Amino acid sequence: MRKQTKKSSSKLENARSTESVNPATGETIGYSPKNSVDDLKEAIRKARRAQEAWAVLTVKKRIRALRGMRVHLMEHAEKIVALISRENGKARVDALATEVLPAVMALDYYTSHAKKFLKPTVLLPGSFLLFNKWSKMFRVPYGVIGIISPWNYPFGIPFSEVVMGLLAGNGVILKTATNTQLVGREIEACLRAAGLPDGIFSFINISGDVAGDAFIDSGIDKLFFTGSVSVGKKLMSKAAETLTPLNLELGGNDAMLVCEDADMDRASSGAVWAGLQNCGQTCAGVERVYVHGSVYEPFMEKIKAKVESLRVGQDKDFNVDMGAMTTKSQMEKVRNHLEDALNKGAVIVAQSDCPPQEGPGNFLPATVIAEVNHEMLVMQEETFGPVLAIMKVQDMEEAIALSNDSIYGLTGSVWSRNAKRAEQIARRIRAGVMTINDHLVSHGMAETPWGGLKASGYGRTHGKIGFLEMTQPQVVVHDLLTFAKKNLWWHPYDEKLYSGLLGAIKLFHGRKLRVRLSGLGPLLRILPRVFR
Ligand code: NAD
Repeated sequence: MRKQTKKSSSKLENARSTESVNPATGETIGYSPKNSVDDLKEAIRKARRAQEAWAVLTVKKRIRALRGMRVHLMEHAEKIVALISRENGKARVDALATEVLPAVMALDYYTSHAKKFLKPTVLLPGSFLLFNKWSKMFRVPYGVIGIISPWNYPFGIPFSEVVMGLLAGNGVILKTATNTQLVGREIEACLRAAGLPDGIFSFINISGDVAGDAFIDSGIDKLFFTGSVSVGKKLMSKAAETLTPLNLELGGNDAMLVCEDADMDRASSGAVWAGLQNCGQTCAGVERVYVHGSVYEPFMEKIKAKVESLRVGQDKDFNVDMGAMTTKSQMEKVRNHLEDALNKGAVIVAQSDCPPQEGPGNFLPATVIAEVNHEMLVMQEETFGPVLAIMKVQDMEEAIALSNDSIYGLTGSVWSRNAKRAEQIARRIRAGVMTINDHLVSHGMAETPWGGLKASGYGRTHGKIGFLEMTQPQVVVHDLLTFAKKNLWWHPYDEKLYSGLLGAIKLFHGRKLRVRLSGLGPLLRILPRVFR
């Protein structure tokens, strides 16, 4: 009887809330109340009202308000890390190093630089003819922005975007992925701790299927979306109806290029970390590795040893290198990609141990495959799992061509002891971020703009460029001679005016001195009209 009551109450809970499950154990860890589309509309309306007052505050006051989160973050860092690990499945060191630590650093960076980024710029006349004009360019907030974020970095990705959006003077509505709702609620708690004006920030729990239409139909002023290419395309077509600006941070299938002079220890450790941390569920994780033929054997030996010694499992005592995959559907996708590769001739060259796969936990072993080619899904699509596909190449020209043979262009890396040559190679890869002798690190470097080329999206987040994406430029043009009665070219029109303006072209843009001088007289003859 008691059991029945428990069952029916959890059913009721599920109807009103999203259930959160620990992917390492299958246990329910909590619930997040659901919202309706009407709740979203109301949140946007409230944010719009609050934003009017928020936007006219000095930047200094907005900075002070957001800095209010620092103490909360400090005091709750371990709790947040543990929750990320329990809800997403990743190891706690991953959660700390790639989410909470970067969030703290981003808060510090943006609150220290917001004033400078938002400072109006003075623009001097670009031509002698317009000597009387000078302009000021302001950065104005969009109004109310929406942020939609994925489950793979449930804290780190949305946190810095929320901070930038608010600092820039916007109201912000955040929707995080359904699987990681409790982490989203922690972001909400951080913002609450800052004591911001009522309504300026709201966290909304609505499902992905309705979110795009709901945000855009409710009149959101700009949408920042991080997620898959397929949803990015849907949003773009929906946003076209209202010309809603979009920022799209989408998927990747990152290449790592290992040159013949690379440090084999560093390169192999880098490949294992950047390909397999967070179970490989990283937009900019290493997925494809192209290794110069002359160092292929030693590289593979080191990779094999390192992957075979990875410890996979639930993070009970920190002594785990790879946790659980976040969702069963993602595990299925990884298995399909592997099967496809093996059917087409790939071979498994190394695999880590793994807890039993029949258990409730979403565990997959870390797997390295070789003998791969570009007919395979692992090389064409984003696998988003603990799989490293390694290919031997004749030379770096071949590595460059193969790296660019992808619809994606998020990030990539070149590994070499020759920094100059590595940079030359990096510049030939069509990707938004290239790293030398490292991979993935720049997502945590608040100063570097983040974003992809090709199908990996457009727009940037992070850095000054990313910060300014939260704003639009507004130009105000002034007169230098405030007593001037009119511009040269205003009414009344006559032939003298026509010749004078033609004279301006000759004087300022003619190539020969004779032509230039011929323009001076006609121009001088019309100048007095400015003061009449
Ligand atoms: P997803 O596109 O399925 O979902 C992302 C978010 O969008 C979730 O909050 C989801 O609820 C929501 N959503 C789903 N359908 C929607 C719709 N029609 N309208 C509006 N919102 C909708 O992606 P995912 O599986 O959660 O995340 C993995 C993907 O995200 C991968 O492709 C990964 O590469 C990408 N990603 C990119 C970056 C980057 O910085 N470029 C960072 C992290 C993840």
